[in-house]
Amino acid sequence: PVDASFLLRWLDTSATVLDREANRLTLLDSPIGDADHGTNMRRGFIAARTAVGQEPPDTPGGVLTAIGRHLISTVGGASGPLYGTLLRRAGKQLGDEPAVGAERLRDALRAGVDGVAQLGGAAAGDKTMLDALLPALDAMDTALAGGGSTTEVLDAAAKAAAEGAEATTPLRARKGRASYLGDRSIGHQDPGATSSALLVAALADTAR
Ligand code: ADP
Ligand code: MG
Ligand code: MG
Repeated sequence: PVDASFLLRWLDTSATVLDREANRLTLLDSPIGDADHGTNMRRGFIAARTAVGQEPPDTPGGVLTAIGRHLISTVGGASGPLYGTLLRRAGKQLGDEPAVGAERLRDALRAGVDGVAQLGGAAAGDKTMLDALLPALDAMDTALAGGGSTTEVLDAAAKAAAEGAEATTPLRARKGRASYLGDRSIGHQDPGATSSALLVAALADTAR
């Protein structure tokens, strides 16, 4: 079951992974951005881990809402408000339930990702974080329909997110800074889709 402690472990793993992968994310953000995505994500998740760890909420919804709030206040750039919105919307959708299964988690993440699309105005294929997040949700739908366990559902999501991030390379960016480059954005993997894949992989690792 996904409870507060599950999501606190996810936050811990995510902060560790983003700290380790910050240089790679920033390198991806160099040719098609302003070379700060790794720095932004590391700062935000480490700040969230410290702050949320000091006063841990006792529901999964509370944990996601608190992380989202900290990301919005500590991450500069486009990714802070977008990830912040994702987690706050997802947290709000979970309400004050003490624990949920994979299906309710999927519904909450779907609400959060809808919030990202609304705020940023991007759609599938625009070369953004949505190109990792939307395939992850679709993979969760398929795995849930097939009766998969929470671990199987999250593994399927992680695989789809990683594939989705890689598939951003040939795309032309239509949103965010990379879109200023037009055709020159082609041939580079999107940093935000890459960090999304890392966050979904951390979710699958937490369930293992
Ligand atoms: P900034 O571009 O402000 O420096 P970051 O480098 O932290 O912010 O984040 C860049 C990432 O944010 C991009 O790689 C992309 O995935 C994501 N992004 C940018 N604009 C949008 C948008 N409108 N909708 C969804 N994702 C976006
Ligand atoms: Mg940037
Ligand atoms: Mg920036």
